[in-house]
Amino acid sequence: MNLSADIVVVGAGPAGAMAALEAARRGFSVVVFEKSAWPRHKTCGAGISPTSRRVLREVGLWDRVRAVAYPIYGLRLVAPSGREALLAGAESAHVLDRSRFDALLVEAAVAAGARFLPQTPVTALSTKDGVVTGVVTAGGTIGARAVIVAGGANCTLLPKRKRTVLQTAMVWYENVPFTPSIMEMIYDPAIYPHYLWLFPESDRRVNIGLCLSAERRERPISVLFEDMVARHFGKRLTAGGRVKGILGHPIVVSERVSLSTNPGLLPAGEAAGLVNPATGEGISFAMESGRIAAALFAEAWEEGKDHDWIAATYRKRLARLFDRRLGMASFFCRHARWFIEGAVWLGSSRIMRVITARAMARL
Ligand SMILES: Cc1cc2nc3c(=O)[nH]c(=O)nc-3n(C[C@H](O)[C@H](O)[C@H](O)COP(=O)(O)OP(=O)(O)OC[C@H]3O[C@@H](n4cnc5c(N)ncnc54)[C@H](O)[C@@H]3O)c2cc1C
Repeated sequence: MNLSADIVVVGAGPAGAMAALEAARRGFSVVVFEKSAWPRHKTCGAGISPTSRRVLREVGLWDRVRAVAYPIYGLRLVAPSGREALLAGAESAHVLDRSRFDALLVEAAVAAGARFLPQTPVTALSTKDGVVTGVVTAGGTIGARAVIVAGGANCTLLPKRKRTVLQTAMVWYENVPFTPSIMEMIYDPAIYPHYLWLFPESDRRVNIGLCLSAERRERPISVLFEDMVARHFGKRLTAGGRVKGILGHPIVVSERVSLSTNPGLLPAGEAAGLVNPATGEGISFAMESGRIAAALFAEAWEEGKDHDWIAATYRKRLARLFDRRLGMASFFCRHARWFIEGAVWLGSSRIMRVITARAMARL
């Protein structure tokens, strides 16, 4: 492959697409390698949080996403005690199937000038004297001034390190009864402090899934999933059908920013473990870290900064942006019962309902 670029991005999820968009808009040549055929499936609840909405607004893509996403106006929250509340208020989130969401972001990056190569896995990094100088694919080596690795939870290009993982199981259903525009989060004692969810994606389709700490898992996740679904949705699901079988995918989470960088390389998104450890929300972290990585290379080249400065500044910027959010989420995990029972109790008051719904959406 006779190709080179200022920035090579590995992976076309929200982290990679945003890195490519940022770099292309700054006038750099960018190539994005994606191993899957495109658009690709991604097992995901596909909830677009208020933070994701803010990032999409900043890059001018919110109107495009909003036009096709399903709006969420409230949350049915079930506490471990079985008590529940409907936290309904202002529009708080959206849901958009990831094949469409990710395609929309990649389309924007391509429109800005990025080159996109689907079905082209990166098999290794190329290095010279300890500096990453490009990537290797089946077609050959592609040289780059910088590489952003945004390959998600299963990315094999970064050094192996201890990871905190949530296991998940998820199924799409059609034609089952649900309250339009209401998400459901059920904190069953068997999976607490994590949860079972139902996210509506359209007037006909919902996705139902659960996540729990990998350390907590005592039974095969598919058995646990069937059990939870039967316990909490059983009667409702007899009316409709499963669109596919059970899908699973790990979520790599962190309690604070902790990165392994290399001269010439920055990791972004879930490849760097940037996911909320309480909710599994990772789209906003992916988009923000991808943007920051690309902007940082641009800034460093303009100002003649070296690799050490890039690594230290990236760590500092991500920590400033994420450490409080990640820390609050792990605090939530340690005291989840108190928070959830409290939120359900507050939800019985009409005034507190809107405030609590907003707080839960921003967790
Ligand atoms: C069941 C489940 C539910 C979730 N629900 C939500 C939710 O509702 N809201 C939310 O915000 N987050 C959710 N998440 C988390 C969210 O999906 C991820 O955190 C997010 O997708 C991370 O984005 P990313 O760009 O870092 O990685 P990904 O979206 O995983 O994208 C990585 C891309 O890199 C490609 N790739 C990997 N290796 C290579 C290679 N060597 N060469 C080329 N390409 C490569 C992959 O094919 C993939 O397309 C959920 C996760 C799971 C598993």
